Formats: sequence, structure tokens, C-alpha cells
Amino acid sequence: MNNIFFTREHFVLIEDLQCFLKEELEPIKDEITKEKKVPLSLIRKMGEKRYFGPLICENYGGSNLGMIAHCLITEEISKLNVSVSVTRTPCILDGYLLSHYGSDSQKQKYLTEITSGRKLCSICVTEEEAGSNVAGIKTIARDSGNEYILNGSKKYITNAGIADYYFIWCITNINVNPRSGMSVLLVEKDTPGLIIENPYELMGINGIYNGIIQLKDVRVPKENLIGNEGSGFDSLMDTFNLERITLSSECNGISLAALESSKQYAKKRVQFERPISNFQIIKLKLADMSINLQAARLLTYSAAKLYEIGLNITKEASMAKAFSSETAVKVASEAVQIHGGAGYTDLYSVERYLRDARFFQIGGGTSEIQKLIVAREELK
Ligand SMILES: Cc1cc2nc3c(=O)[nH]c(=O)nc-3n(C[C@H](O)[C@H](O)[C@H](O)COP(=O)(O)OP(=O)(O)OC[C@H]3O[C@@H](n4cnc5c(N)ncnc54)[C@H](O)[C@@H]3O)c2cc1C
Repeated sequence: MNNIFFTREHFVLIEDLQCFLKEELEPIKDEITKEKKVPLSLIRKMGEKRYFGPLICENYGGSNLGMIAHCLITEEISKLNVSVSVTRTPCILDGYLLSHYGSDSQKQKYLTEITSGRKLCSICVTEEEAGSNVAGIKTIARDSGNEYILNGSKKYITNAGIADYYFIWCITNINVNPRSGMSVLLVEKDTPGLIIENPYELMGINGIYNGIIQLKDVRVPKENLIGNEGSGFDSLMDTFNLERITLSSECNGISLAALESSKQYAKKRVQFERPISNFQIIKLKLADMSINLQAARLLTYSAAKLYEIGLNITKEASMAKAFSSETAVKVASEAVQIHGGAGYTDLYSVERYLRDARFFQIGGGTSEIQKLIVAREELK
């Protein structure tokens, strides 16, 4: 795998990243889940090391290493604790959005702050009546001279409460199809009328912040419109492709960790006077885990490669997301099984992997929606 997709530059990156993560994340990877808090100091350090910047050019503090490097960084972080990566993801997506659709002055003002990890982001799309159907959003931005007045609400928003910049998808023209009447506005934290609530706990990915956002007569300067008015749906679809590859890599990180833990445990755990790895049924489980993981990584890295050579990856990104998330759930579940009773306790990380993996069949577009996209592309 590594020899197919990785260059010398990638190997240098991996070495540096693994050193950093061994020192900064490995010692606290389980504590993050127990305390339910991703330390923001760690996020900032990752920014300083330019791990937020593989898709951003050097002018704005990025490393410009490309999509494969991005997948690699995401996978490595996720092997230890995927919540750290999930906290980073909205910053990657909004950074990408700004770098592709933002004006020069927006890039000057915001992009370096995001790339450096000094400012965190949220991507705010989902609403009460608009989940899978993103074109159903009702949040409205009314034109009022030099500003928009924003009203509506968003739910399940990652980084709600810790983000500095909220990228809000809203309707700016109610008289046309939402696909051409949708825009994106950047709202800075502490803007009057931006109200954040965190009223629930999550099943997994503990440590991330997630909540509801109310927008009550929020005044947003027109200079905070990202891209042209009406271009929000297209820029969202473009950003979704990146999100799907990112989430696939997060899943693959979980699967890699679950397989590794299972191999170690199976070699060490003795029953019937022999290590359980000697039993064919355990070997079969490990083989299936390995085969599925290899396929998931191949789908993800090949989508990343296609992106790097400038091709449309709508189908490939959805394939990777659907398969990698399904694989992570299967691999993590088998990992729990291989660990027996120990796997059901929090003495081993595999129970966390299973709870974390389950998120990815929902967030970033459900598996059903990914498959609908694949079918649509096939039937074109
Ligand atoms: C932890 C977490 C973090 C999240 N972070 C963010 C975030 O940062 N920003 C953001 O905007 N959103 C975020 N989300 C929202 C997430 O993207 C949505 O939950 C997801 O897109 C599904 O929408 P929904 O929950 O409304 O489900 P629904 O759309 O109501 O779907 C319910 C079920 O119906 C199925 N379904 C729906 N339509 C169809 C169809 N046409 N055909 C077949 N089946 C269908 C779905 O697959 C699903 O099984 C997050 C969610 C979670 C849980």
C-alpha cells in the first residue's frame, strides 16, 4: 500500500508525524475519551506543525503537500484517537472552502489563522428539517444594505462552542431553487444573536464538542459572503467530496488500530493451552479484517490520487466513505469479539473504536446517501 501511493516526501512526513503523536497524543489518547475533552492546546500544536495545511498553499501558512498527505495525517491521528481528528476536520473543510472560493482579503484575514490552528472552525449545514436533504435548509439571510440579517438554526454542529469561525449555509434568494439560492456566510464567534447550546451527550467520538446553533437577527457584513451569492450549494458539494475522503481516512485509522490491537491480543491470550491466534476461526477473523481494511484504504487513497491529478471524484469519494465506515464498524466489532470479555471493558480501546466507528455511517452523509450517489453516478 505505502509503496503504491507514498513518495519520499510522504515517508518524511510520516516519520515526523509519528514522533509528534507519540509525544503529544499517545500518552493521553484514552484520557481524552474518559474526560470527554480534546485538549485545545494539542489542536494548536498540530497547527503549529502545519498538520492543518496540506491542502493550503505556503502563502497562507499551509504545506501544500496534497490530498494523499492529508489522508495520511488524518489516518495517523485517528489511529490514536479519532476525536482529535474530528475536531480538526471542520478546519480542514472550511480552510479548503476559503482557499477555493474566498476573496484575497478573506484569505488574508482568516486563512492563515485557520491553517495555523490558532482559530477553529465549524461547518454549519444540518437543520431540523434538512439532514440528508441539504437543499431543504430554511436558515435565511435577508439583504440589508451592507449586511445580511441571518435567522434560523443548525443542529449536530461539530466544534459548536469552541469554534471561532462558523461557516453558515443559508438561503439568500427564496425565489429560486435552493440549489441556486444558497450561500455561505462566515460568522465570527461572539457575534450578537449567535447562540450555542450543547444539550446532549454522544454515543462515541467523546471529546469533541457538538451542539445546536440558534441564529437570531445575526448581522453579518457582506464582506463575509464566501464566494458569489447563490454559489453555496455548489461549493458545499465540492467540500463534501473532501469531507468524505477525510472521514474515510478517519475510519481507516480506527480499523488499523483495531486490527493491530486484535493481533497483539490474539498472540498473547492463551486458552486451551495455546494462543488464541492459533485457532483457525480467529485467523479467519483477522484475515477478513485485513482484507476489508486493505480495500477501504485502496478506495480512499485512490480517490485522493484521482483528486490530485485533477479528476472529479464524486463517485469515488462516496464509495470510499460508504465502504470505509462499514469496514470500521465490522473491524472494530470483530476486535471486541477477539478480545472477549476484556474487549467489552474500557481497559482496552476496542470498545471505544466500535462506538467511534458507528458515527461515520451517519456523519458527513449517511451510508444510504453515499450509495444513492454512487448509483446516480453509475446510471448517468
Ligand atoms: C456527531 C455528529 C456530528 C455532526 N457534525 C455535523 C457538522 O459539523 N455540521 C453539520 O452540518 N452536520 C453535522 N452532523 C449532521 C449529519 O451530517 C447528519 O446527521 C446526517 O447528514 C444525517 O442527517 P439526519 O440526522 O437529519 O438524518 P435523516 O436525513 O433524517 O436520515 C434518517 C435516516 O433516513 C435515511 N434516509 C434519508 N433520506 C434517504 C433517502 N433519500 N433514501 C434512503 N434513505 C434515506 C438516512 O440514511 C438515515 O438512515 C453531525 C452529526 C453527528 C451525529
